[in-house]
Amino acid sequence: MKSIFLLKYAEIGIKGKNRHVFEEALCKQIRNRLNKNKISNKIINERGRIYVETETEEPVSTVTDIIKNTFGVTAVCEVKVVESKEWEAIRDGVVEYMKEQYSDYHFSFKVKCRRSDKNFKMESPEVCMEAGHVLLEEFPDLTVDVHNPDTFIWIEVRDKVYIYSKVIKGIAGMPLGTNGKSMLLLSGGIDSPVAGYMIARRGVYIDAVYFHAPPYTSDRAKQKVVDLATKLSKYTGMINLHVINFTDIQMCIYEECPHDELTIIMRRYMMKIAEDIAKKNDCLALITGESIGQVASQTAMSLACTDAAATMPVYRPLIGFDKQDIIDISKDIDTYETSILPYEDCCTIFVAKHPVTKPVLSAIEKSEENLVGKIEKLYEEALASDEVIRIHG
Ligand code: ATP
Ligand code: MG
Repeated sequence: MKSIFLLKYAEIGIKGKNRHVFEEALCKQIRNRLNKNKISNKIINERGRIYVETETEEPVSTVTDIIKNTFGVTAVCEVKVVESKEWEAIRDGVVEYMKEQYSDYHFSFKVKCRRSDKNFKMESPEVCMEAGHVLLEEFPDLTVDVHNPDTFIWIEVRDKVYIYSKVIKGIAGMPLGTNGKSMLLLSGGIDSPVAGYMIARRGVYIDAVYFHAPPYTSDRAKQKVVDLATKLSKYTGMINLHVINFTDIQMCIYEECPHDELTIIMRRYMMKIAEDIAKKNDCLALITGESIGQVASQTAMSLACTDAAATMPVYRPLIGFDKQDIIDISKDIDTYETSILPYEDCCTIFVAKHPVTKPVLSAIEKSEENLVGKIEKLYEEALASDEVIRIHG
């Protein structure tokens, strides 16, 4: 079946001279996603409007789901196209549209008209009035409400005439590829997948790094991270997931440093290794799922110590979020059920009973001096252990 959709996009529209860059990035993402799902498509980008024509055996809802889950799309509407701009053709088109889209007509409506073809012989208010009359005659259950209608029925007169009324909300944000790539520190928890989603939603491609600690963490824990990356990739496109063996570094820290500082020092080493991998892979920043005060390693002072370990920018999109806000998003993006599976992550094994909550950077750095001469080789080995799992999205 052939269908045509009108896309709405908000922020891209205000990007001035660069607008076409963002529009092209959006068209490219939609094309890729439809192609991946073997849905034949043609994308028309003209005068501030993007239309997507598709032809597929799949139901229309499959196509709208793909389009609405593309970053940059604020809304998608299936439209009916009327080729002729004669009033009789438009009138018949509106009636047909209503028959195709609705079976129950107990609702109120208001017709809205937008005319970019200024040569069109009817004024907008006239189109609205005439169409309104026709609809009331054809569908006696309908009522007009010009102030607060249940449904707007849009008639847009451009090169052709486009009719639509159902507006499906998209996930908004900016199209992927408009803000480079960043490296997500992805654990098996609830927070980091949400953090990755939020940054990708600003147009950033994502790669990810997971620190595992066999035999203290199981293959199931690693598989959980692969599953989370796979779920994320439905939005973010391909993710290269770097799995780093962190066991020896953790053991070394455990043996040489005060136990109440373990988590902070470990976190600092994660940041350093993640940064090295990020640089090698053309990433501009790191991303973590940290949020102020959530746990001991995320108090304001702990975050200051962790932050000092990185020299590249660290994006922490959840920094001011309550846990419940994060859980709500993880449910929306379908990572929650995987995140709450009970497999241990590498940090829970070595956590101290009473971790420091007010670490001071100079003291932490002093403790880290105990590692000198031992950690360097382990650091290189950890970097060399990098197993890249390509997640196609
Ligand atoms: P999450 O739910 O994302 O696991 P969390 O509340 O459990 O977060 P922490 O364990 O303190 O928080 O981790 C803080 C951040 O550090 C995580 O959001 C993640 O970005 C990163 N991180 C923690 N453990 C790992 C790991 N094993 N591999 C990669 N990144 C990690
Ligand atoms: Mg965690």
